[in-house]
Amino acid sequence: MTWLVATASLPASIIRIRRRRITPVRRRPLCGARTPWGRPCRERALWDDEADRPRNGRCRAHGGLSTGPKTSVGRQRALRNLRHYREGW
Ligand SMILES: [Zn+2]
Repeated sequence: MTWLVATASLPASIIRIRRRRITPVRRRPLCGARTPWGRPCRERALWDDEADRPRNGRCRAHGGLSTGPKTSVGRQRALRNLRHYREGW
């Protein structure tokens, strides 16, 4: 019975992880992305349970799942776009 062995070899460490206090959903920051209706997005930011903090401050509909640019070329492009955005279209 392999599953018995598996459950027996998963000790209290997993239970401790489950019991660890993480920030309750109601206290997590909102996404706040600009929406077509002029109001900021009211969805909660995508939460990183491991680190107990928002991944990048956005909900899953507004880039919260994004891991960001990976290559150095992509990073430079993203920074250029950010400057462009801050100058105000
Ligand atoms: Zn959002």
